Order: sequence, then C-alpha cells, then structure tokens
Amino acid sequence: MQRNQLSSYIRNIPDFPKSGIMFKDLTTLLQDPVAFKAATEELYKDVKGKRIDKVVGIESRGFFFGALLADKLSAGFVPVRKPGKLPYKTVQASYKLEYGMDILEMHEDAIREGELVLLHDDLLATGGTANAACKLIEKLKGNVVHVSFLVELTYLYGRDKLRPYEVSSVIQF
Ligand code: AMP
Repeated sequence: MQRNQLSSYIRNIPDFPKSGIMFKDLTTLLQDPVAFKAATEELYKDVKGKRIDKVVGIESRGFFFGALLADKLSAGFVPVRKPGKLPYKTVQASYKLEYGMDILEMHEDAIREGELVLLHDDLLATGGTANAACKLIEKLKGNVVHVSFLVELTYLYGRDKLRPYEVSSVIQF
C-alpha cells in the first residue's frame, strides 16, 4: 500500500469532541490489518537508521505506533500521560489549550541525561501537546532527535511551534 492511500482509512467525525472540531478517527485504520502494517512501516521509514535510545509516546493514541516504533528501533518506550496516571515520581509540563491549560507527566527516571529520544504522537494539530512533551524530555536532559506523527493538520501550522525540532508526518490534511 502506498503512503498516499492511507488517508482514506481515517474517518472524519464532525463536531467531536466539541462543535467545530473535525476529529480524525484512527480506529478505522487500526482495525484494518493491511493499513495498520503499512502505517507502521511508513512511520518507521521516517526514522530508520537514526540512533534512538527511547521512544516517547503521548497518551493515549501515541501509544499505538510509539511502542511499535520502539520495537523496530530496538529502543525503550516511555509513556507521557495526563496527570495522576503514573504511579512513580513525575516531572510535569503545562501547556495552553484553546480554553485553559493542560498538564503532561513523565516518570522522572524515564530518560537519562544525553539519551537520544524520538517523540511520537498520532496527530499534529496546533503543536502545543508535542511541544510540552519535548520540554519534559529536555527537563530530564534527553535530546529530542526527531518528532514523528501519523497525521498532520497542516492548516494549523503546528510545525512552526515545534521549530527547531526535526518533524515528520505520514499523512497530511
Ligand atoms: P495539538 O496540541 O493542538 O497539536 O493537538 C494534538 C493532540 O490532540 C494529539 O494528541 C491528538 O491526538 C489530539 N487532536 C487534536 N486535534 C485532533 C483532531 N482533529 N483529530 C484527532 N485528534 C486530535
């Protein structure tokens, strides 16, 4: 399957979770074995050959492919989660939402100083979430080598917020 065929496996849900948002539903891609494998392979192509110690995946849709990429790269996997979910001591980063703030957490021993980190999430919209996750990685003195997404909503210019990190996405809308 070609990279440009993958977008047809993503379902658009208008006004979810609130009015005015066109939600990109990945479950239709995940449940198709051929599309699921092809999406994993395309994500892997974007980072193949890079030296990566840890893949960081953002709750919760960043876990699906984040863990698969970690396996392919022979790297460890680290979950970034919403507050109160991780059982051990955490570091936190807050970021701005359309209305108010949100917080992300990571275990304080998840990354060691100087480790090479790939950040992965399912979708890049405004870039606020991924940017906060990059700050968490840097709080632990990790180096963000690359930021990878399955889907990018280019009209929201999230890439600008992620400068100067190296960013890739498989599917653009
Ligand atoms: P942002 O911080 O604006 O880049 O938003 C990215 C995060 O919100 C990701 O974890 C996505 O899973 C989720 N997200 C934002 N917009 C959408 C959308 N239109 N469809 C699906 N997920 C979205």
